[in-house]
Parts: sequence; C-alpha cells; structure tokens
Amino acid sequence: MNDFELRQSIIDHCIRMNASGLNQGTSGNISVRAGDMMLITPSATPYEKLRPQDIAAMPIDHDYGNWEGPLKPSTEWPFHLDIMRARPEVGAVVHTHSTFATILSIARKEIPACHYMIAAFGGSNIRCASFARYGTKELSEAAVEALEGRKACLLANHGMITLGPTLDKAMWLAVELETLAKQYYHSLLIGGPVLLSDAEIAETMKGFATYGLQDPKPAGTAKAAVKSRKKQSG
Ligand code: 13P
Ligand code: ZN
Repeated sequence: MNDFELRQSIIDHCIRMNASGLNQGTSGNISVRAGDMMLITPSATPYEKLRPQDIAAMPIDHDYGNWEGPLKPSTEWPFHLDIMRARPEVGAVVHTHSTFATILSIARKEIPACHYMIAAFGGSNIRCASFARYGTKELSEAAVEALEGRKACLLANHGMITLGPTLDKAMWLAVELETLAKQYYHSLLIGGPVLLSDAEIAETMKGFATYGLQDPKPAGTAKAAVKSRKKQSG
C-alpha cells in the first residue's frame, strides 16, 4: 500500500471499529508503520470527518515527538511510538476502550488461559499494565512492559492495546481480545474458569503457526475436483 492508501485504510478501520461496537466516539486511536514514519490518528477528531491528509505522521527513530500534519496527533502517541521503537515486527497498533476489556482493566484483572484463543496473543496470559494518566511517558513504559512477548495488554482503568504486523491483524486481535474478555468476565460469574495448562497453550501455539495460511491448490485442481464429484454423483 502506498502512503495515501495506508492513511485511507486507517480511517476505514476507525469507522469499522466504532460501527462494530468495539469503540465509541473518538476514544480509540490507531497507528501504522510506513517506512521510517508512523502514521497516527489525530487527537479527538470524529472519524467520519477524517481525510487522508488529516492523519499525523511522526518519525520513528529520530526527533522523538516531532509530528507533521494539520491536526495534533493522538495524545497516546508516546505508547504508539515507543511500541514501534521497541518492537520492529509491529506494523500497526490499535487502542480501544472496548467494554469488557475495560471492565477487566478496571478490576485490574489480567486474562488467564481461560480459552485456547489466548495463544493467538503469544502466551498464557494477557497482562494488565499499571495505571498512569493517559498520554504520559509513564503509561507508555507500563504498556511496553506489559506487552513483553505478547501482542496485547490491558491498561488499568482505561482500555486495551493490540499489535499486529498489519492493521488487519491488529484489528482482528482487538475483536478477539474483546471476545475473550467477555467470555472470561462471564465465566467469573458462574464460579470461575477451569484454566488451560502452559503445555496446552504451547500445543495450541504450534497449531496457530500455520492456522489461517491456506495453501492455494495448484491451478485446475478445484475444477477437476468438482468434475469428479459430479461424475461420482450421477
Ligand atoms: P485521542 O483522541 O487523543 O487519540 O485520545 C483518546 C484516548 O483513547 C486517550 O487514551
Ligand atoms: Zn484511551
């Protein structure tokens, strides 16, 4: 994707994030790596009003905190930038105040291995970063620490963060994390979950290494299979 398409894709994902109920108002933010720059949503701007040129750009490896654009970057630029600096494999960061992840963060509960899908986040738990005021370096440091070896964390009394190599993957994890948070919350109401072992999570992670990667069939194979099925049935 070129720079313009990346900017448009940030806007499209913001709009979808709110339409799906994962976020409300302007309380989330999204960033994407574009070469040596980070593109990030502007602060407190309704997503429907955003145009590609309104997305702020910040250098990743130099001029810490410098930005270009007609509007101020999200107040959460410190954690978006520090995550991009600390995690070269990360291409996109999604932050939302989705309801169930936020409820758990208010109760300062990390998510344990209550469902095998936790393996998609890189381990047996999703940690909750300690509280610091929004937009601070302190919050950024707490988030980077809670994210160690993981693709997501909760932020105490605030919300959640997910990471991905692409924005599609980071957004997919945001939906999965909210689902997991909802399931864990409800399991607590009926006596608490039976947790999976580290070995069971490790085994699941092995499966995930190839999950979703569909090898395309060699050309012509699909047609041939349909023909042979038709022949067999009649
Ligand atoms: P921005 O509107 O500045 O992106 O802030 C929203 C938010 O989630 C703060 O934590
Ligand atoms: Zn927030």
